[in-house]
Amino acid sequence: MRTRTAGPIALAAAAVLTLAACGGSDDADSGSTPEVSDVEAADFPEGSTMAALAEAGSITVGTKFDQPLFGLVGPDGTPEGFDVEIAKIIAGALGIPEDGIEWKETVSANRESFIESGQVDIVVATYTINDERKQVVSFAGPYYEAGQSILTLASNEDIQGPDDLAGKKVCTVSGSTPEANLLENYPDTEVVPFGAYSDCLEPLRGGQVDAMSTDNVILAGFAADDPTFEVRGEPFTQEPYGIGLALDDTDFRMWINDVLEQAYEDGTWTEAWEATAGSVLPTPEPPAVDRY
Ligand code: GLU
Repeated sequence: MRTRTAGPIALAAAAVLTLAACGGSDDADSGSTPEVSDVEAADFPEGSTMAALAEAGSITVGTKFDQPLFGLVGPDGTPEGFDVEIAKIIAGALGIPEDGIEWKETVSANRESFIESGQVDIVVATYTINDERKQVVSFAGPYYEAGQSILTLASNEDIQGPDDLAGKKVCTVSGSTPEANLLENYPDTEVVPFGAYSDCLEPLRGGQVDAMSTDNVILAGFAADDPTFEVRGEPFTQEPYGIGLALDDTDFRMWINDVLEQAYEDGTWTEAWEATAGSVLPTPEPPAVDRY
């Protein structure tokens, strides 16, 4: 059996040089468009998911379609954002070009079931790694660390942190970690769950809810798009974002971790950030991957 690390990773590094030569600013709206490496199925271990995907020349990726900065569908029907760029980096390292990626909308509540049923090969969707989810899916990464925060109307000074949510109506999304945290740790808060975060915007604008709560970076995207809204206080949880994949596919998980580490080292990860979420948020250090 062949080992596969050197081929795709070295080629991914070469892709960065091409990317750097292209320059970033023209691509700011659509992402950093990482180059596609020149690997073939035979470069991967026989029978691996990597070999199967490379052979097919296509990958199905679950992502959000309604979240600015991370996964937001543009006018052409293709999503854009940091999660989308992470998926493109993984696809590129499999030799799969952008037009070989099938984007499937996932909402918070269906990510595990989409992976379990094989409807998607991976999920890259502001997806927090936690022990409960690890019972049913696996996670490569983390590739970013977010934290739960609060969005209110800019005119609302009453809510500055989670302790101010007692007696308030707070919109969030079914199946998300912020929903679980509010229900478990803030019992005096009236949780109003919707299917997707963008569903919270009009109720918040209209005063049907007092606040919306989810990860700080998701809220930052909505606030950047509309100054009616402001993010309040500091993050009050840790939300390490992972790439979800089938529970027992350790080889694929470890290979994605290799790809991430390579992207950290060669600057591809930073390019992806700066072309997307970096338009609003400072560029962080990439987090260490967790090879559990
Ligand atoms: N990161 C959190 C989660 O995975 C909240 C964001 C989301 O719902 O996508 O549940």
